[in-house]
Amino acid sequence: MGAASRRRKQNQNPQDEHHRALAGATPSTVRQVNRTILLNLVRLRQPIARVDLSRLTGMFRSSVSAIVDELIADGLLVEERAEPRGRGRVPLMLSLNSRDCRVLAVSVRRYQTQIASAGLNAEIQKTVSFPTPSSPEALLEEVESALALVREEAFRSFHGVGVSMPGFVDSAAGRISMLPSLPRYAGFPIAAEMERIVGSPACVENDANLGALAQLWRRGQAYRAGDDFVLLEIADVGVGAGVVLNGRLYTGHDGRCAGEFGHMIVDPSGPECTCGRRGCWEQFVSDKATWRRFDPDTEYTPARFDGLLQLALDGDPKARETFEHTARYLSVGLSNIQFALNPKRIVLAGRITRIWHLIHATIEAECFWDNLRSQVEPLGANLDELSLQGAIALALESQFAPPEVGWSGSSRRPMPAQPDEAEMLATAGLRSVTAAHRA
Ligand SMILES: [Zn+2]
Repeated sequence: MGAASRRRKQNQNPQDEHHRALAGATPSTVRQVNRTILLNLVRLRQPIARVDLSRLTGMFRSSVSAIVDELIADGLLVEERAEPRGRGRVPLMLSLNSRDCRVLAVSVRRYQTQIASAGLNAEIQKTVSFPTPSSPEALLEEVESALALVREEAFRSFHGVGVSMPGFVDSAAGRISMLPSLPRYAGFPIAAEMERIVGSPACVENDANLGALAQLWRRGQAYRAGDDFVLLEIADVGVGAGVVLNGRLYTGHDGRCAGEFGHMIVDPSGPECTCGRRGCWEQFVSDKATWRRFDPDTEYTPARFDGLLQLALDGDPKARETFEHTARYLSVGLSNIQFALNPKRIVLAGRITRIWHLIHATIEAECFWDNLRSQVEPLGANLDELSLQGAIALALESQFAPPEVGWSGSSRRPMPAQPDEAEMLATAGLRSVTAAHRA
């Protein structure tokens, strides 16, 4: 079972999950852990020989071979003889089977949707894009026609589908909660519908979270402990964020949202936000907010914002002053993140990073505290590309993520009620309600 289906199944029946987690790991869980360890090692070290997998993991050669044979039979690995060098015996080397095993990525952005097929190495093989429809039903129709273009004869089915959405999603339930720019998508069971039309397990996640996941994969850090970072996407009208703790994406106790730093209130009497409250950070640092400060009488467009960036690069004093102001607000939020999480790195993505050399001194000088110093660094990637790469990584997770074991095994899995919590509810009179209900 893929991680996606596992996660949803767990969410549908928290009681079963409670028992499973308390029962601990079974021999099949141990085998599954070893399987993902070997698969990830091949991903990071390919081409690699069986004997080296055994040496690096400390596993018996017979155990490595049994699992490797299974991975080859499942179409995930290929084993080929290396190029002969000198007189010695030419070893057989393992690598990911990117030719036959593919995943599908669907990245929905405010204006444009991209669909891509990718191999196990996360390299994109084919993409199709179209304007994002205003209803989820119309989106499914577009995806169905795009499928014919990205699916090729060479393989039968995709191993998984990753879907990126620009807003709040309930990733455990595979459902869209709320997309500020696409209100008709609220409540739509996108993962189940994608599974229906593609015929493979599907997962959905917020686009900024996926940007962070894409970074993990690009750096080969996924599932390695010790890499903590926050990715911030400074976008047209908002700020998205993805939090990575111990090499894994953190999405909160119920998988619905975490690290929504764009909605930290920095001025309770500030402008109204899409979340219905006032003075959220994104109302001061998004591209639109910066534009409003520069020219309140002209409507924001991405092209006009590009023009403003160019003005700042050309030395225009008013444009420079506008971005100085944004930089000071950026600093307020960045220092709050630093105090809350003290991550090793805070990575900024978005068009504003084009003028990083003009604003970084202000950002670092204003609110940072010498005793806490996260590294703040710009990321040159564009946000569309980042979401698509993240959707690919999400689809690949079903193969590469280790199984979730124990209470603290996952940051995405909903936590079942603790026994003492159940006791508290019973004491509060809920036991009789439940009993009456059953009768
Ligand atoms: Zn808000």
